Amino acid sequence: MAKLLEGKPLAEKIKEGLKRQVAALKVKPVLASIMVGENAGAAAYVKSQSKAAEGLGIEYRLQNLPQDTTEAALIDFIRKLNADKSVNGIIIQMPLPAAIDYKKISAYISPEKDIEGMHPQNIGKLLFGKAKLIPCTAAAVMELINATGIDLYGKETVIVGHSEIVGKPLALLLLDKFATVTVCHIGTSKAGKLEEHVRRAELLIVAVGKAGLIKGDWVKEGAVVIDVGINRLADKIVGDVEFEGAEKRAAYITPVPGGVGPLTVTMLMRNLVEAAEAQQ
Ligand code: NDP
Repeated sequence: MAKLLEGKPLAEKIKEGLKRQVAALKVKPVLASIMVGENAGAAAYVKSQSKAAEGLGIEYRLQNLPQDTTEAALIDFIRKLNADKSVNGIIIQMPLPAAIDYKKISAYISPEKDIEGMHPQNIGKLLFGKAKLIPCTAAAVMELINATGIDLYGKETVIVGHSEIVGKPLALLLLDKFATVTVCHIGTSKAGKLEEHVRRAELLIVAVGKAGLIKGDWVKEGAVVIDVGINRLADKIVGDVEFEGAEKRAAYITPVPGGVGPLTVTMLMRNLVEAAEAQQ
Protein backbone atom coordinates (compact mmCIF):
# COMPACT_ATOMS: atom_id res chain seq x y z
CA MET A 1 0.00 0.00 0.00
CA ALA A 2 1.37 3.41 -1.01
CA LYS A 3 2.49 6.07 1.43
CA LEU A 4 0.37 9.21 1.12
CA LEU A 5 2.24 12.27 -0.11
CA GLU A 6 0.32 15.06 1.58
CA GLY A 7 0.93 18.68 0.68
CA LYS A 8 -0.19 20.36 3.87
CA PRO A 9 2.55 19.24 6.31
CA LEU A 10 5.16 20.06 3.67
CA ALA A 11 3.58 23.48 3.08
CA GLU A 12 3.61 24.19 6.84
CA LYS A 13 7.32 23.39 7.04
CA ILE A 14 8.14 25.64 4.06
CA LYS A 15 6.00 28.43 5.54
CA GLU A 16 8.03 28.35 8.78
CA GLY A 17 11.17 29.14 6.75
CA LEU A 18 9.36 31.82 4.74
CA LYS A 19 8.16 33.56 7.94
CA ARG A 20 11.77 33.88 9.08
CA GLN A 21 12.81 35.22 5.64
CA VAL A 22 9.97 37.79 5.67
CA ALA A 23 10.89 38.92 9.20
CA ALA A 24 14.47 39.51 8.02
CA LEU A 25 13.39 41.87 5.19
CA LYS A 26 13.83 45.61 5.70
CA VAL A 27 10.30 46.45 4.53
CA LYS A 28 7.08 44.40 4.68
CA PRO A 29 6.75 42.74 1.24
CA VAL A 30 3.73 43.48 -0.95
CA LEU A 31 1.92 41.19 -3.38
CA ALA A 32 -0.32 43.02 -5.86
CA SER A 33 -3.17 40.87 -7.12
CA ILE A 34 -5.13 42.06 -10.14
CA MET A 35 -8.70 40.86 -10.57
CA VAL A 36 -10.68 42.05 -13.59
CA GLY A 37 -14.45 41.83 -13.08
CA GLU A 38 -16.19 39.39 -10.75
CA ASN A 39 -15.72 35.61 -10.77
CA ALA A 40 -16.51 33.11 -8.04
CA GLY A 41 -13.54 30.85 -8.89
CA ALA A 42 -11.06 33.75 -8.90
CA ALA A 43 -12.57 35.07 -5.66
CA ALA A 44 -11.87 31.71 -3.97
CA TYR A 45 -8.21 31.79 -5.11
CA VAL A 46 -7.89 35.39 -3.92
CA LYS A 47 -9.22 34.38 -0.51
CA SER A 48 -6.75 31.54 -0.07
CA GLN A 49 -3.85 33.65 -1.36
CA SER A 50 -4.66 36.56 0.93
CA LYS A 51 -4.94 34.20 3.93
CA ALA A 52 -1.57 32.61 3.11
CA ALA A 53 0.05 36.03 2.65
CA GLU A 54 -1.36 37.37 5.90
CA GLY A 55 -0.05 34.33 7.81
CA LEU A 56 3.46 35.06 6.57
CA GLY A 57 3.50 38.81 7.18
CA ILE A 58 3.07 39.70 3.50
CA GLU A 59 0.72 42.53 2.48
CA TYR A 60 -1.84 41.28 -0.06
CA ARG A 61 -2.98 44.28 -2.10
CA LEU A 62 -6.06 43.34 -4.11
CA GLN A 63 -6.60 45.54 -7.18
CA ASN A 64 -10.16 45.21 -8.48
CA LEU A 65 -10.66 46.48 -12.03
CA PRO A 66 -14.05 46.71 -13.78
CA GLN A 67 -15.22 43.96 -16.17
CA ASP A 68 -15.02 46.35 -19.14
CA THR A 69 -11.30 47.11 -18.61
CA THR A 70 -9.54 47.15 -21.99
CA GLU A 71 -6.25 45.41 -22.74
CA ALA A 72 -4.56 48.80 -23.12
CA ALA A 73 -5.88 49.98 -19.74
CA LEU A 74 -4.70 46.77 -18.05
CA ILE A 75 -1.22 47.14 -19.59
CA ASP A 76 -1.13 50.71 -18.31
CA PHE A 77 -2.13 49.51 -14.84
CA ILE A 78 0.59 46.83 -14.86
CA ARG A 79 3.18 49.43 -15.88
CA LYS A 80 2.22 51.52 -12.84
CA LEU A 81 2.63 48.50 -10.56
CA ASN A 82 6.00 47.74 -12.18
CA ALA A 83 7.14 51.28 -11.37
CA ASP A 84 5.75 51.20 -7.81
CA LYS A 85 8.76 50.38 -5.61
CA SER A 86 6.51 49.24 -2.74
CA VAL A 87 5.18 46.33 -4.87
CA ASN A 88 7.41 43.23 -4.97
CA GLY A 89 5.26 40.79 -6.92
CA ILE A 90 2.29 40.87 -9.29
CA ILE A 91 -0.27 38.18 -10.06
CA ILE A 92 -3.14 38.36 -12.55
CA GLN A 93 -6.18 36.36 -11.50
CA MET A 94 -7.85 34.10 -14.04
CA PRO A 95 -10.22 34.07 -15.79
CA LEU A 96 -9.79 37.37 -17.60
CA PRO A 97 -12.58 38.83 -19.78
CA ALA A 98 -12.57 37.22 -23.25
CA ALA A 99 -11.23 40.40 -24.88
CA ILE A 100 -7.98 40.22 -22.88
CA ASP A 101 -5.17 37.87 -23.93
CA TYR A 102 -3.39 36.57 -20.79
CA LYS A 103 -0.20 35.56 -22.63
CA LYS A 104 0.14 39.03 -24.13
CA ILE A 105 -0.63 40.79 -20.84
CA SER A 106 1.61 38.66 -18.63
CA ALA A 107 4.65 39.61 -20.73
CA TYR A 108 4.18 43.23 -19.53
CA ILE A 109 4.81 42.29 -15.90
CA SER A 110 8.37 43.13 -14.95
CA PRO A 111 10.32 39.81 -14.90
CA GLU A 112 11.58 40.68 -11.40
CA LYS A 113 7.96 40.91 -10.15
CA ASP A 114 6.64 37.92 -12.14
CA ILE A 115 5.85 35.63 -9.19
CA GLU A 116 3.93 33.19 -11.40
CA GLY A 117 7.15 32.58 -13.35
CA MET A 118 5.39 32.92 -16.71
CA HIS A 119 7.24 35.91 -18.23
CA PRO A 120 9.14 34.79 -21.38
CA GLN A 121 12.40 35.88 -19.71
CA ASN A 122 11.75 33.64 -16.69
CA ILE A 123 10.71 30.74 -18.93
CA GLY A 124 13.98 31.28 -20.83
CA LYS A 125 15.90 31.06 -17.55
CA LEU A 126 14.08 27.80 -16.82
CA LEU A 127 15.42 26.39 -20.08
CA PHE A 128 18.96 27.28 -19.00
CA GLY A 129 18.43 25.84 -15.49
CA LYS A 130 18.83 29.32 -13.95
CA ALA A 131 15.24 30.18 -12.96
CA LYS A 132 14.56 31.67 -9.54
CA LEU A 133 10.83 32.32 -10.13
CA ILE A 134 9.43 28.92 -11.12
CA PRO A 135 5.77 28.35 -12.18
CA CYS A 136 4.01 27.52 -8.90
CA THR A 137 2.32 24.19 -9.70
CA ALA A 138 5.50 22.77 -11.25
CA ALA A 139 7.46 23.93 -8.18
CA ALA A 140 4.87 22.26 -5.90
CA VAL A 141 5.27 18.96 -7.77
CA MET A 142 9.07 19.17 -7.41
CA GLU A 143 8.70 19.69 -3.64
CA LEU A 144 6.52 16.57 -3.36
CA ILE A 145 9.00 14.53 -5.37
CA ASN A 146 11.87 15.77 -3.17
CA ALA A 147 9.90 14.74 -0.08
CA THR A 148 10.00 11.09 -1.21
CA GLY A 149 13.82 11.19 -1.27
CA ILE A 150 13.93 9.29 -4.61
CA ASP A 151 16.97 9.70 -6.81
CA LEU A 152 15.84 11.24 -10.09
CA TYR A 153 19.02 10.36 -11.98
CA GLY A 154 18.00 8.17 -14.93
CA LYS A 155 14.51 7.70 -13.45
CA GLU A 156 11.90 6.65 -16.03
CA THR A 157 9.53 9.62 -15.75
CA VAL A 158 6.23 10.08 -17.55
CA ILE A 159 4.35 13.39 -17.49
CA VAL A 160 0.78 13.32 -18.82
CA GLY A 161 -0.32 16.83 -19.92
CA HIS A 162 1.85 19.41 -21.70
CA SER A 163 0.37 22.70 -20.53
CA GLU A 164 2.55 25.76 -20.14
CA ILE A 165 1.90 26.00 -16.40
CA VAL A 166 2.48 22.34 -15.45
CA GLY A 167 3.73 19.76 -17.97
CA LYS A 168 6.23 21.82 -19.97
CA PRO A 169 8.02 23.53 -17.03
CA LEU A 170 8.12 20.20 -15.17
CA ALA A 171 9.77 18.50 -18.13
CA LEU A 172 12.55 21.12 -18.00
CA LEU A 173 12.95 20.91 -14.21
CA LEU A 174 13.15 17.11 -14.30
CA LEU A 175 15.59 17.07 -17.22
CA ASP A 176 17.84 19.30 -15.12
CA LYS A 177 17.89 16.48 -12.54
CA PHE A 178 18.81 13.94 -15.26
CA ALA A 179 15.46 12.12 -15.14
CA THR A 180 14.54 10.38 -18.43
CA VAL A 181 11.42 12.32 -19.35
CA THR A 182 8.53 11.37 -21.64
CA VAL A 183 5.74 13.93 -22.07
CA CYS A 184 2.34 12.54 -23.09
CA HIS A 185 -0.63 14.56 -24.31
CA ILE A 186 -3.79 14.28 -26.35
CA GLY A 187 -1.80 12.97 -29.34
CA THR A 188 -0.44 10.11 -27.22
CA SER A 189 -3.98 9.14 -26.18
CA LYS A 190 -5.32 9.42 -29.71
CA ALA A 191 -2.49 7.15 -30.93
CA GLY A 192 -3.61 4.60 -28.29
CA LYS A 193 -0.21 4.74 -26.58
CA LEU A 194 -0.96 6.35 -23.22
CA GLU A 195 -1.26 3.06 -21.32
CA GLU A 196 2.08 1.68 -22.53
CA HIS A 197 3.92 4.86 -21.49
CA VAL A 198 2.22 4.99 -18.08
CA ARG A 199 2.96 1.30 -17.40
CA ARG A 200 6.72 1.85 -17.51
CA ALA A 201 6.74 5.05 -15.40
CA GLU A 202 8.79 4.87 -12.20
CA LEU A 203 7.72 8.47 -11.62
CA LEU A 204 4.27 9.38 -12.98
CA ILE A 205 2.92 12.93 -13.00
CA VAL A 206 -0.58 13.53 -14.35
CA ALA A 207 -1.99 17.01 -15.07
CA VAL A 208 -4.92 16.74 -17.45
CA GLY A 209 -8.27 17.38 -15.75
CA LYS A 210 -10.08 14.13 -16.69
CA ALA A 211 -11.31 11.93 -13.86
CA GLY A 212 -10.23 8.30 -14.18
CA LEU A 213 -8.00 8.90 -17.24
CA ILE A 214 -5.23 6.79 -15.68
CA LYS A 215 -6.43 3.34 -14.64
CA GLY A 216 -5.20 2.07 -11.30
CA ASP A 217 -3.80 -1.14 -12.78
CA TRP A 218 -1.63 0.80 -15.28
CA VAL A 219 0.51 2.07 -12.40
CA LYS A 220 3.88 0.32 -12.12
CA GLU A 221 4.59 -1.48 -8.82
CA GLY A 222 6.65 0.82 -6.57
CA ALA A 223 6.05 3.96 -8.68
CA VAL A 224 5.79 7.50 -7.31
CA VAL A 225 2.48 8.99 -8.48
CA ILE A 226 1.78 12.73 -8.42
CA ASP A 227 -1.78 13.56 -9.44
CA VAL A 228 -2.20 17.26 -10.23
CA GLY A 229 -5.70 16.94 -11.72
CA ILE A 230 -8.72 18.44 -10.00
CA ASN A 231 -12.13 17.15 -11.12
CA ARG A 232 -15.34 18.16 -9.38
CA LEU A 233 -17.81 15.25 -9.46
CA ALA A 234 -21.35 15.49 -8.06
CA ASP A 235 -20.35 14.37 -4.57
CA LYS A 236 -16.55 14.76 -4.35
CA ILE A 237 -13.35 16.06 -5.85
CA VAL A 238 -11.02 13.53 -7.51
CA GLY A 239 -7.79 13.58 -9.52
CA ASP A 240 -6.97 12.08 -12.92
CA VAL A 241 -5.67 8.76 -11.53
CA GLU A 242 -8.00 6.02 -10.22
CA PHE A 243 -6.84 6.30 -6.64
CA GLU A 244 -8.00 2.99 -5.16
CA GLY A 245 -6.28 0.78 -7.71
CA ALA A 246 -3.19 2.99 -7.92
CA GLU A 247 -2.53 3.17 -4.18
CA LYS A 248 -2.28 -0.64 -4.02
CA ARG A 249 0.59 -0.61 -6.52
CA ALA A 250 2.45 2.69 -5.98
CA ALA A 251 5.13 3.36 -3.34
CA TYR A 252 3.96 6.97 -2.94
CA ILE A 253 0.81 8.71 -4.13
CA THR A 254 -0.69 12.17 -3.68
CA PRO A 255 -4.30 12.36 -2.46
CA VAL A 256 -6.78 14.64 -4.30
CA PRO A 257 -7.65 16.93 -2.66
CA GLY A 258 -4.73 17.44 -0.27
CA GLY A 259 -1.68 16.66 -2.42
CA VAL A 260 -0.42 19.29 -4.86
CA GLY A 261 -3.13 21.88 -4.11
CA PRO A 262 -2.05 22.99 -0.60
CA LEU A 263 1.51 23.52 -1.82
CA THR A 264 0.75 25.64 -4.89
CA VAL A 265 -0.18 28.80 -2.98
CA THR A 266 2.88 28.32 -0.74
CA MET A 267 5.06 28.26 -3.87
CA LEU A 268 3.49 31.57 -4.94
CA MET A 269 4.46 33.04 -1.56
CA ARG A 270 7.96 31.59 -1.87
CA ASN A 271 8.34 33.34 -5.24
CA LEU A 272 7.13 36.59 -3.69
CA VAL A 273 9.71 36.33 -0.89
CA GLU A 274 12.41 35.43 -3.43
CA ALA A 275 11.45 38.50 -5.53
CA ALA A 276 11.37 40.80 -2.47
CA GLU A 277 14.81 39.60 -1.31
CA ALA A 278 16.28 40.18 -4.78
CA GLN A 279 14.73 43.67 -4.99
CA GLN A 280 15.68 44.81 -1.48
P1 NDP B 1 -4.76 22.35 -19.46
O1 NDP B 1 -6.14 22.12 -19.92
O2 NDP B 1 -4.04 23.59 -19.82
O3 NDP B 1 -3.85 21.12 -19.96
C1 NDP B 1 -4.33 19.81 -19.94
C2 NDP B 1 -3.35 18.94 -20.70
O4 NDP B 1 -3.87 17.60 -20.78
C3 NDP B 1 -3.10 19.39 -22.12
O5 NDP B 1 -1.72 19.27 -22.35
C4 NDP B 1 -3.91 18.41 -22.94
O6 NDP B 1 -3.36 18.20 -24.23
C5 NDP B 1 -3.78 17.16 -22.13
N1 NDP B 1 -4.85 16.20 -22.39
C6 NDP B 1 -6.17 16.43 -22.55
N2 NDP B 1 -6.84 15.29 -22.75
C7 NDP B 1 -5.92 14.30 -22.71
C8 NDP B 1 -5.97 12.88 -22.84
N3 NDP B 1 -7.12 12.25 -23.06
N4 NDP B 1 -4.82 12.19 -22.75
C9 NDP B 1 -3.63 12.80 -22.54
N5 NDP B 1 -3.52 14.15 -22.39
C10 NDP B 1 -4.64 14.87 -22.48
O7 NDP B 1 -4.79 22.15 -17.89
P2 NDP B 1 -3.78 22.59 -16.73
O8 NDP B 1 -2.40 22.10 -17.03
O9 NDP B 1 -3.99 24.00 -16.41
O10 NDP B 1 -4.39 21.72 -15.53
C11 NDP B 1 -4.44 20.31 -15.58
C12 NDP B 1 -5.20 19.81 -14.37
O11 NDP B 1 -4.49 20.17 -13.20
C13 NDP B 1 -6.61 20.39 -14.19
O12 NDP B 1 -7.43 19.43 -13.60
C14 NDP B 1 -6.40 21.54 -13.21
O13 NDP B 1 -7.55 21.83 -12.46
C15 NDP B 1 -5.31 20.95 -12.34
N6 NDP B 1 -4.47 21.96 -11.69
C16 NDP B 1 -4.25 21.80 -10.35
C17 NDP B 1 -3.47 22.70 -9.68
C18 NDP B 1 -3.23 22.48 -8.23
O14 NDP B 1 -2.79 23.38 -7.56
N7 NDP B 1 -3.48 21.30 -7.69
C19 NDP B 1 -2.89 23.87 -10.35
C20 NDP B 1 -3.09 23.87 -11.77
C21 NDP B 1 -3.88 22.96 -12.42
P3 NDP B 1 -3.82 19.17 -25.46
O15 NDP B 1 -3.56 20.57 -25.01
O16 NDP B 1 -2.94 18.74 -26.56
O17 NDP B 1 -5.27 18.88 -25.66
